[in-house]
Amino acid sequence: MGQHKTAVFLDRDGTINVEAGYIRDLAQLQLMPGAAAAVKRLNDQGIPVFVATNQSGPARGYYPESHVLDLNRRLTELLAAEDARVDDVFYCPHLPEGTVAAYTQACDCRKPEPGMLLEAARKHGLDLAGCYMVGDKSTDVEVGQRVGCRTVLLKSGYGEAILKGEYMWPCTPDHVADTLVEAVTWMLDDMKARG
Ligand SMILES: [Mg+2]
Ligand SMILES: [Zn+2]
Repeated sequence: MGQHKTAVFLDRDGTINVEAGYIRDLAQLQLMPGAAAAVKRLNDQGIPVFVATNQSGPARGYYPESHVLDLNRRLTELLAAEDARVDDVFYCPHLPEGTVAAYTQACDCRKPEPGMLLEAARKHGLDLAGCYMVGDKSTDVEVGQRVGCRTVLLKSGYGEAILKGEYMWPCTPDHVADTLVEAVTWMLDDMKARG
């Protein structure tokens, strides 16, 4: 902490890759249109990009934790194929009501709990007040707000249903964007305005 370093936290499913429920087959993991170019714009500005994703598949017994790592690796490969990179990936494999004992717990990292963002801040020397959290669920907005980040809700993934008040409402992000592409444009403008 204290290095006043701006960074961007991205949710994974419905934000970088197409929301497809619990992805059992690596081939089902597909980038959202424009997502890699959006990440690359942040890379080109020297802004660290971190993924913070809830992945309760292991806790639900859908697949082993190693599969989450495989999915995350596949994601970074797809981004790399378009010259984009994320600086670190944080995931939570837990769930309070899981069925696999090793992962069944009320942890401090499942969003909206702030563990992943706090760990990233410690590990990478971030000033969370200068950071941004982007995602398609109100839990993404809430976790960002809890640690003092500015927040963007995407209409991709679940965001449209949230805005209609059908799911996880209310939600009060600093900005609402159709896509990650738009979110990055807004954040870069906002960073400039903050100086
Ligand atoms: Mg999501
Ligand atoms: Zn957790």
